[in-house]
Amino acid sequence: MNKLIVGNWKMNGTMTSARNLAAELVTFQKNKPVQVTVVVCPPYPYLGVVALRLMDSSLRWGAQDCAAHENGAFTGQVSAAMLKDMSCQYVIVGHSERRSQGNETDEHILQKAQKALAAGLTPIICLGENLQEREQGKAVDVVLSQAQQAIPEGKCIIAYEPVWAIGTGKVPTASQIEEIHQALAKKKPVLPLLYGGSVKAGNAAEILKIPHVNGLLVGGASLNAAEFWAIAEAA
Ligand code: PEP
Repeated sequence: MNKLIVGNWKMNGTMTSARNLAAELVTFQKNKPVQVTVVVCPPYPYLGVVALRLMDSSLRWGAQDCAAHENGAFTGQVSAAMLKDMSCQYVIVGHSERRSQGNETDEHILQKAQKALAAGLTPIICLGENLQEREQGKAVDVVLSQAQQAIPEGKCIIAYEPVWAIGTGKVPTASQIEEIHQALAKKKPVLPLLYGGSVKAGNAAEILKIPHVNGLLVGGASLNAAEFWAIAEAA
């Protein structure tokens, strides 16, 4: 399976920095080509400029969320069909920041993933335990329960992102990642599994060696083209 490296730019940057970052990645792909699939997920308003920069390259783009509805009176929301219209191929759903800041439940996430699939996008569905759940020894159960409830039938990608590892610099041990990935691989044998949480150029290769890790979801480090490209090269 081709490794997949996804950059989640979150709510960062300006139109100019988004365009420059996309252009830098295209240059890296030209000068230091990688065989892995590289995807960036900019903020919604910058999808157009990023798409223009990436469209003649092998790089792909996606969004950080989509609505659980098809269309209509949903002020401020963006449908999966609109993302498809912007030539997105992927959409992240159920990111822990959406779960905590947007009060999203597994049920919402399931609906979003279903809308994404129906629009022809590949949903990247994020799962992960929080620190308390980890400390109570419930990580595997929590993640499997999220997988049971939030993942529809179809061509989805799962991203295991322990909440306590996101943006904190704390990375689970290889055996902690392996334990969760093994459980997910058993439950959802055909779906690619990513790891996300404080991935950097310095730890990417080691994480990618863990069985069942098919790629990485990268937050902070995806905002720096050289760092992000070093992660892609590690894959
Ligand atoms: C993320 O937001 O999905 C993420 C993994 O962030 P970071 O790499 O910054 O921990």
